[in-house]
Amino acid sequence: MATPSLLGLTGQYWKLVAGMLLLLVGSIAPLFEATGMSWTVGTIVACVGYAFTLLAVRCPNCGSRWFWQAALDAGVYRPLFKESTCPSCQHDFSNRG
Ligand SMILES: [Zn+2]
Repeated sequence: MATPSLLGLTGQYWKLVAGMLLLLVGSIAPLFEATGMSWTVGTIVACVGYAFTLLAVRCPNCGSRWFWQAALDAGVYRPLFKESTCPSCQHDFSNRG
């Protein structure tokens, strides 16, 4: 059994990965001229990636934006990766299916 995590149980790991990839690409690509990406574009791409993660990862039960909450209260990060209960509505996703 893998460690239960809200992101895994609700199938939203890909949103975190996609957002972090954009953040990385936007931060690193402008360093290399070959990519043709300016710092302006890179900054926009990075911000979009970060905003996507903040807004797109939500509790399927109560609609709470987990990473948005975690940005305001770092204590929310733990349940996202280590527990199966929504920090907002206390819904336990490990019992689903
Ligand atoms: Zn919830």
